[in-house]
Amino acid sequence: MKDVLLIKYGELALKGENRSFFENTLVKNIKYALKDFDGVKVEKTHGRIYVECEKDVEEAIERLKKVFGIVGITRAKEADLDLEEIFKAAVDLMKSHQGKTFKVETKRPNKAFPYNSMEVSRRVGAAVLKNVKNMKVDVHNPDVLLNVEIREKAFLYAGVIEGAGGLPLGTNGKATVLLSGGIDSPVAAWMMMKRGVEVEAVYFHSPPYTSDRAKEKVVDLCKVLSQYGRGMRLHVVHFTDLQLEIYEKCPARLTTIIMRRMMMKIAEKIAQQNGSLALITGESLGQVASQTIESLYVTNSSVSLPVFRPLIGMDKREIIDIAQKIGTYEISIRPYEDCCTIFVPKHPATKPKLEKVLEAEEKMDYQKFIDNFEEEVIEI
Ligand code: ATP
Ligand code: MG
Repeated sequence: MKDVLLIKYGELALKGENRSFFENTLVKNIKYALKDFDGVKVEKTHGRIYVECEKDVEEAIERLKKVFGIVGITRAKEADLDLEEIFKAAVDLMKSHQGKTFKVETKRPNKAFPYNSMEVSRRVGAAVLKNVKNMKVDVHNPDVLLNVEIREKAFLYAGVIEGAGGLPLGTNGKATVLLSGGIDSPVAAWMMMKRGVEVEAVYFHSPPYTSDRAKEKVVDLCKVLSQYGRGMRLHVVHFTDLQLEIYEKCPARLTTIIMRRMMMKIAEKIAQQNGSLALITGESLGQVASQTIESLYVTNSSVSLPVFRPLIGMDKREIIDIAQKIGTYEISIRPYEDCCTIFVPKHPATKPKLEKVLEAEEKMDYQKFIDNFEEEVIEI
């Protein structure tokens, strides 16, 4: 008898021909998440992934909760296909559970096992009643549901720990996220990662107007996000010169939207170099002047790659809830300025017109900045 973690993955089963690619990627990601654990074995059979973990099981579970594609994690006992062994595992398992009532439910995909599901449930129930003090059967509303699965081995478990869901990272290509130090963009990145997208980040840094601490914030956000993936690359783009050019040459009310367009153009260049097929931003409709539908139209027109805005229909409260859940919120609310807040005009246009914006942009030589931007690349 030994302890194993059963990994349940849902959506993958639907993916037809891609199934083994998805499963293999998930196995690879699980191995990566547990790479510094001793004596870990990850095995895939019959629509299940089994993780054997000699020690630090709690920590392993915490890591696995961040692996996309996992729907549930179950701490299980694995026993040989022998009734006595199964009884022992059941008693062991039930002794470690709080609760006064229980019910046994058996599945028997392995029809070679000589007892049917009802028979197994009945006998296991009797063994528990005999060996665990103060336990009663309650078939309607049990405190503990003891599951027995008869496969190539017997697996016994009670209770499932919820996984992150989504699709395994790396099964849906790559995208480049415009990552500020704010609350929204890390959540946007996380949501796309959850759909299997590998993410590379770009941060626009405007020293001396933005401090090293503002940059550090973004590095720390990438560290949190990278726990959900397999490392991450961050491009810190030196944005001051272009930003000053915008503020010198363009009408005040259009500076924010033009700045946003310049960020998109530079991010698109980086995206094309790293094989990304989309950009990601943390924009949410109507949140600020630069996120009205008119502004988003103008921003969008600056690039030809698709722009994913997973937060577009969400309220701030909903975004904050996710930020708290995934561990980025506390970093995002550190009080360091970002380049947008420093240069915000008093009256930004809320309904900018594309022709006017293009006209304004012609007054500056932005292409030379875009062709020759300076960046620092940080591997997280
Ligand atoms: P966030 O919380 O993500 O900063 P926000 O609500 O503050 O979003 P804006 O400041 O208008 O919104 O920025 C909109 C989007 O533009 C951000 O979600 C992010 O994707 C991108 N962005 C803004 N500033 C930067 C920056 N300095 N570097 C990289 N991307 C940025
Ligand atoms: Mg911001």
